Parts: sequence; C-alpha cells; structure tokens
Amino acid sequence: MAAEYDYAIVGGGLQAGLIALAVRAKQPAARIAIVERDQALGGNHTWCFHADDVPADAAWITPLVVQRWAGYDVAFPRRRRHLESAYACTTSARLDELVRPVVDGLFLGEVATAIEPNQVTTASRSITATAVIDARGPDRSASWGESGWQVFVGREVRVTNHGLGHPMLMDATVPQHGGFRFVYVLPLSADVLLIEDTIFADTPTLDVDDGRRAIADYAAAHGWSIEAVLREETGVLPLPLRVPAPVVNDAGPLVAGYAGHWFHPTTGYSFPIAARLAAFIADRPASELFGAPLRDEARAHGGQLAFACRLNRMLYNWFAPEQRYNVLERFYGLAEGLIRRFYSMALTRTDRARILVGRPPRGMSYRAALGGKVAWRTA
Ligand SMILES: Cc1cc2nc3c(=O)[nH]c(=O)nc-3n(C[C@H](O)[C@H](O)[C@H](O)COP(=O)(O)OP(=O)(O)OC[C@H]3O[C@@H](n4cnc5c(N)ncnc54)[C@H](O)[C@@H]3O)c2cc1C
Repeated sequence: MAAEYDYAIVGGGLQAGLIALAVRAKQPAARIAIVERDQALGGNHTWCFHADDVPADAAWITPLVVQRWAGYDVAFPRRRRHLESAYACTTSARLDELVRPVVDGLFLGEVATAIEPNQVTTASRSITATAVIDARGPDRSASWGESGWQVFVGREVRVTNHGLGHPMLMDATVPQHGGFRFVYVLPLSADVLLIEDTIFADTPTLDVDDGRRAIADYAAAHGWSIEAVLREETGVLPLPLRVPAPVVNDAGPLVAGYAGHWFHPTTGYSFPIAARLAAFIADRPASELFGAPLRDEARAHGGQLAFACRLNRMLYNWFAPEQRYNVLERFYGLAEGLIRRFYSMALTRTDRARILVGRPPRGMSYRAALGGKVAWRTA
C-alpha cells in the first residue's frame, strides 16, 4: 500500500520546520506531515545565526528572518572587536506562521509513542510515510556522558534610547563566576532589546533569578531603564566532551536536529547545521533519502563534531571556570573568515591548526593539560 505521506517528521521544532520549508520549496508536490506534542510549532526561542552560514540557494530561509544586522561586536577584558559578518534571527512565532501552511498533515498536541522506518504512532493515530524523520530535540542528550553546559536566561525588554545599532554577541567583561559568563544583546527594534545572561557551566543547573539579576545589572550599567519585560526564554544545552557522528541507518528513520547530533557542541547552536541538513533532504525525493550520500554527509559532520568536542575538552578540563574567558578572548583575535567557519562547522584543516598552534591562552593549567587531576573537574 502506498504511504500516506512522503515525509513524516516527529517533533515540530527548528529542524522539522526547516525541513518542511526546504522540501516545500524544492519539491512542491511532496506530502509532508509533522507530529508535535505541543499546541504550536517551534517552542519559545529566538534563534540567531550568521546570515551567510546557510546554504547559498536557500531562498526558503529568507522569509524566516525577522531581523538582520550588518555586523556585531564582542568584548573581553583585553579585547573589543567589531566583526563585519552579517547576523540574523528568527523566532518560534515566525517559524510556526510559515510552516503551518506548507504541511499537509499537522498533528499538534500528539506525542509520538512509536517511531518506525515507515510509520509514526500516537495515542490517536498511525501515519505512514516513505521517509520518517525523528527530530525530537535536545531532551534525549543526557546519554552523551561527560558534558559542559550552556545555561542561560534571556529577557526581551522595552527600554528607552538604547542606541545599539547591532548585536553584542559576547560581552565577557562582566564578573566571571560559575563558568565562562557573558551577556548577549540583540537590538530587536528601537526600543526593544533581547538581553541574555549565559554561562558555560560545569553542571546543568540554571538559576533563573540570578540570570534575571545579571540582566537587570547589565541594563543599569548601560543606562538602559527597563520599562517592561515582554518575554523570557531559558535554556540548558549540553556541550558534550565527546559525541559520536550521527548514526544513519539505511532503513530509517533519520534522526535529525539536536537528537541526531546535528548541532554544534561548542556553541550549543544548531541553526546552520539544521539548515544544511534540511537542504540536503530537500535535494532528493523521499525514496532516495537514505544511502551513501547521507552517510557521507553524516561522516563529514562527524569530523567537525570530533574537533568541536576536542575544543570542549580543552576548555572544560584545562581551564578553571573563571579562566575560560581567556580561550574565547584569544579565539576572537583570529581571522574573521575562520571565526565564521567555526560557527558554521565548516573548519578546514588549516583552520584547525590555526586554532591549536601558538601560545596557549592565559589561565591554562599545565597540570591539567598533562593529565593531572584538578579541583574543578574532580569536585
Ligand atoms: C531558548 C533557546 C534559544 C536558542 N537559541 C539558539 C540560537 O540563537 N541559535 C541556534 O543556532 N541555536 C539556538 N538554540 C539551540 C538549538 O538550535 C535549539 O535547541 C533548537 O530548537 C534545536 O532544534 P531541534 O529541532 O533539534 O529541537 P527542538 O526545536 O527542541 O524541537 C523538538 C520538538 O520535538 C517535540 N517533541 C519531543 N518529543 C516528542 C514526541 N515524543 N512527540 C511529539 N513531539 C515531540 C518538542 O515538543 C519540540 O517541539 C537555542 C536553544 C534554546 C533552548
């Protein structure tokens, strides 16, 4: 019997939305279904990405962008820099608005209980598809073992006269406690900022009140008076010290998005990688999704994952929590093209060598680097 859908995607988050948009753009007749446990698509996120880190022919991404800036700043105790790389963001609300009309079967409020190569089952239905894609997000990442964590609180606030023309991607001049800590600021409009307090921590503990206080302190220090808090988002994202390449089973289903390791272990970001995988899926019919090209794609991403995890092991094992900012301060002294390739997980061999050679960043524990035990990893 013919399958009801070409694609059935489980989880209606970022990865699912990007796949649906890409497939609809490249295969107008494809039948697409999404099964999502919540009542809306996309959760509660503002997703940012370097605007040039998405596939060159991905016109389907353009309507997603709610804000775009020509460049951004970073700040550290001994380095302040403006980068000319364009930066963009989208939101859960925009993803929901754009994805709903392009899917043929939208099953909201339904939890998938069985995900098989050609079938997805919930409490109220079973749907069949030529290709099933499991994109259930970061929830199942606990099995990755030793990990650092990115914990953050972001608040969208109305302020008067902030005067910011472009984002502050990383302001690490704030007090360093609990890990590598920085504030991230996006000017969403003339009177609205998204201010996020982020810690690269050793544990997945998020102290929301502490984050809110840090945001208030940062705003006050910049003379911004917060008139209203419009929205809040929080995150606890694993930054694993080791993660295997995506496992691709030729029989399916394809595990995509964060759940399938299609993300950046050093930054916790996944937009560019999810967009690349979406473009790959859309470039061939559902019946040809599995096979050697997909395995090659997974292997290539696995190589980038391995290097990113190596950087995580150095950051978390060789530097005490309050010294980790030194690593990022040094990194932001490198060439801008390399920085962009780092974010998009497209580092070349030369880039990797460039990151690793030279004088180590300040604050490195030689004892830890030589394999000795150090307090912050054994506590
Ligand atoms: C607050 C926040 C902000 C972030 N900001 C950025 C950013 O700026 N840039 C960036 O690149 N990355 C960012 N990330 C990291 C990453 O891109 C996101 O976590 C992204 O949403 C991961 O995409 P995904 O599709 O893999 O998972 P998700 O977007 O989490 O989607 C998974 C979906 O699966 C659903 N689901 C789970 N189990 C089931 C089930 N059994 N049945 C049905 N549905 C199910 C969930 O409800 C969810 O909607 C952010 C993360 C968070 C938490």
